Amino acid sequence: MANHDKFYINGQWAVPSTKDKIDVHNAGTGAVMGSVPAGAEKDMNAAVDAARAAFDSWSQTPAAKRAEYLGKISAGLKARVDELAKTIAQEVGMPIKMANRIQASLPVATFGNYAKMAGEFKFEEQVGNSLVVRDPVGVVGAITPWNYPLHQIALKVAPALAAGCTVVLKPSEVAPFNAYILAEVIHEAGLPAGVFNMVTGLGPVVGEALVKHPQVDAVSFTGSTRAGKRISELAAQTVKRVTLELGGKSASVILDDADLAAAVKGTVGNCYLNSGQTCTAFTRMLVPEGKYEEAKTLAAEAAKAYTPGDPMLETTRLGPLSSAAQLDRVRGYIKKAQEEGAELVTGGAEAPDGFEGELRGGYFVKPTIFGKVDPKSTLGQEEVFGPVLSIITYKDEEDAIRIANDTIYGLAGGVWSADAGRAQKVARRLRAGQIDINGGPFNMNAPFGGFKQSGHGREAGVYGLEEFLEYKSLQLKP
Ligand code: NAD
Repeated sequence: MANHDKFYINGQWAVPSTKDKIDVHNAGTGAVMGSVPAGAEKDMNAAVDAARAAFDSWSQTPAAKRAEYLGKISAGLKARVDELAKTIAQEVGMPIKMANRIQASLPVATFGNYAKMAGEFKFEEQVGNSLVVRDPVGVVGAITPWNYPLHQIALKVAPALAAGCTVVLKPSEVAPFNAYILAEVIHEAGLPAGVFNMVTGLGPVVGEALVKHPQVDAVSFTGSTRAGKRISELAAQTVKRVTLELGGKSASVILDDADLAAAVKGTVGNCYLNSGQTCTAFTRMLVPEGKYEEAKTLAAEAAKAYTPGDPMLETTRLGPLSSAAQLDRVRGYIKKAQEEGAELVTGGAEAPDGFEGELRGGYFVKPTIFGKVDPKSTLGQEEVFGPVLSIITYKDEEDAIRIANDTIYGLAGGVWSADAGRAQKVARRLRAGQIDINGGPFNMNAPFGGFKQSGHGREAGVYGLEEFLEYKSLQLKP
């Protein structure tokens, strides 16, 4: 592709300062599908300089005008939605039908949503003798992962631009091509030079250069808890605002009065979405002791619908993992769970059969379920990021709540009960940012983010916009 060897800086496609490249692999075949430049600190500094220089004028641009640009970006992405879906299905491995619905279409909606919000948000209010105004926080560094690559980018770039911030994006090196499409769309939308910039490369090099830069005012990061900790440490040196969206080990709590078949099916589907590479995945299914055998049978039955297959086929429900590193990691966790004595209900660490031709190089793993998982074991505590479900039994409701809350994470969860009031009561006691009750659907205007080591700050809706705003009080003389 024309621009895959460049960065997007100051409204132009910029030539990198080094010749280093990072290969990007097709998840379904393992083949190299292209490469992007591995930027250096110098490249990142040029991008930050451009964002800084553009800030004054962009922050003073009327919100209605900023909204117009966001609307144009949404329309530009929409016009390329099939290309985006195909690109992400190859980079990440999510089956094409879902990739179209989620990976490509959600960002279109997010830019459209923030176009509307920029036009409607009250950027000031009178409190006593003060005029309280909401100022953009400044230059924003956005660092994003590969699992929902463009969605994660959109959740940062759209509200930051709506707020009046300028942005430097460091997309995931595993799935960067979708970000190039966004940069092209932004360019065509005519966004003023320097308002949006993009530098690709490795986290410890360009990511850290962005976080450390004294001219960056805020960092919005989505990714692993490990990298999130490092980013917090570095950002503290210049007292930057940091938003962290990190990992999870979410519990799906099935209460004793729930429709067990629906709850198990819903949990398995949630856990296997994007081959388990979803930060909010319900990876721990908590069932009453007396319902274990039935739940196990139902789960094994539900897993049969997820035969791994070619992500480019419309009929595939479970694609490959996104990378060779991810495949090794997930297989390692499956082996470790077996060593630690969990009951293997279905799946396992060996490669699934039936792949021929180029698909033999894809990063496929069997949909796996473990029963009787010790909540304190490695599998009961750590984020696997693969299609691996743990069934954990509990004694009573108190025990279920205790187990659900007993990990370092607190990103999401689910509660299932015939009594919606009872389910809500339990949901209120779970220490996590979003809880689905009886399979309640995703809401793009609800706040998204974590408790505990799942991070801090919120994305989506008006909550996501507010992350990029500062309060300022103008004391008026009465
Ligand atoms: P990762 O932390 O390895 O990488 C994420 C991004 O951070 C990449 O762009 C990477 O280059 C960069 N990075 C890595 N080290 C860095 C450093 N030292 N300084 C600056 N930048 C650095 O994560 P990943 O493997 O891409 O993504 C998977 C993780 O993301 C999972 O743990 C998952 O739970 C999490 N995630 C969380 C959410 C959420 O909203 N909470 C959403 C999606 C993914």
